[in-house]
Amino acid sequence: MPSERILICGAGVAGSILAFWLAKHDFQVVVVERSKAEQKAGQGIEIEEPALEVVKLMGILDELNQRRTGEMGSIVVDEHSRSCGIFEVGGIGITGALELMRGDLTEVLYKSADESANVTYQFETTIQSLRQTENRVIVDLENMDKKTTRVEEFDFVVGADGVKSRTRQLVMGSPEKLNCLKPVGAFVAYFSIPKENRDWPYSRLCHFRDRRVVWTRPLGKEAEMTSVILIHANNDVPSLRRANAAGDRLKQKEAFAELYSGLGWETPRVVEQMMRAENFYSDELVQVKLQKWSQNRVVLVGDAAWAPSPFTGQGNQLAIIGAWVLAQEMSRNRSPVAFEMYEKRLRSYVENAQKIPLGGHAPYLFNPQTAWGIGLLRTIVCLISATVRVFSWTGLSRFLPDPKHEDFDLEIEEVEAEVAR
Ligand SMILES: Cc1cc2nc3c(=O)[nH]c(=O)nc-3n(C[C@H](O)[C@H](O)[C@H](O)COP(=O)(O)OP(=O)(O)OC[C@H]3O[C@@H](n4cnc5c(N)ncnc54)[C@H](O)[C@@H]3O)c2cc1C
Repeated sequence: MPSERILICGAGVAGSILAFWLAKHDFQVVVVERSKAEQKAGQGIEIEEPALEVVKLMGILDELNQRRTGEMGSIVVDEHSRSCGIFEVGGIGITGALELMRGDLTEVLYKSADESANVTYQFETTIQSLRQTENRVIVDLENMDKKTTRVEEFDFVVGADGVKSRTRQLVMGSPEKLNCLKPVGAFVAYFSIPKENRDWPYSRLCHFRDRRVVWTRPLGKEAEMTSVILIHANNDVPSLRRANAAGDRLKQKEAFAELYSGLGWETPRVVEQMMRAENFYSDELVQVKLQKWSQNRVVLVGDAAWAPSPFTGQGNQLAIIGAWVLAQEMSRNRSPVAFEMYEKRLRSYVENAQKIPLGGHAPYLFNPQTAWGIGLLRTIVCLISATVRVFSWTGLSRFLPDPKHEDFDLEIEEVEAEVAR
């Protein structure tokens, strides 16, 4: 019997992890990705347990460790660069045990999946349209560079194509019809700027009035660049909305430059360099919430199905765990029943991870409106950081619950454990 053919749309974190594991389970996999192979977009993301276990089983942990950014923790600073509170790596801070650049992670994942004879990647390619029969999915694939289209048949199609998933749109309908994009009340910009000595080894956050944050993150001791994240916690910024809708990167930059003009600390340097940054990426932060993650022979995974937004810190985690569970269930049931099992196992875990801290108010409480609010936030940060340090010096920290880890049974089978050996 020939093994089933699977099409995965999107070579991000979820797409490549799924391709790797499906190939191990003897599926024939084609991955289409609209970007060029060498494109390495994105800034820092982290991997924690239980997702860490999945990359360990893939045998790529050593390589990922070599590419860690090495960030040692984070400091909340005031406009004069004075520390208001410091949080070392791990624990309750924002620095995870394995911090990586998104581009480094997707490159390692792509290479390890691509090693398999069962996987073929096609870059600068997307799904133009698709239709389902009882036991096949017929897909028009478009090569965006050569402007050519060809028709191929698959047993199943997986949309791993992110928040604005085209696969979801083709199969289930537009986001407006589905009412599936839920704004969390913030706009964000990610980019890199030339590094200064003070950017290493801690990430630094500075708050400004009207809910504006500048956050610098180191990319490595020897790195030439530093990562920057601008967060503006406001649910209505017409200039940014217009620029995002038009997909106009220069207009997005100009809107952020205006919003952040006249601010202190490192902001003038950051804004000046932002205008030159080639890897600038910006969007309104939303969550994806769907009634169902599949329709017949087409299923969604990762941000396309359930983007939790960066405020939860779970996007990457869920993409890894989701791809693992989907591959496992498809190997157990080589029919659409797999998608029911996948959703049954994951739904409540995902919904829990989607909860935005502090009853959904985290975007506003962590990004105060007034100078008074910023003063209060810095005082609280100072108290918490001092308490954490006392706990850590006295060894009491091991008794504290770890808020980042939620148990999930990966149901590792012998065939999967064998891959790591
Ligand atoms: C460019 C970019 C930069 C990011 N930067 C950060 C960051 O700095 N920090 C952070 O925490 N998170 C970032 N994210 C989000 C983060 O990667 C995800 O939340 C998480 O890793 C889940 O990954 P995913 O594979 O489900 O989706 P994504 O990472 O969004 O991957 C989706 C993939 O599908 C591809 N794709 C999209 N549409 C199509 C299409 N029509 N046809 C073919 N391919 C398509 C995309 O190019 C991408 O490679 C970024 C995402 C992207 C796409």
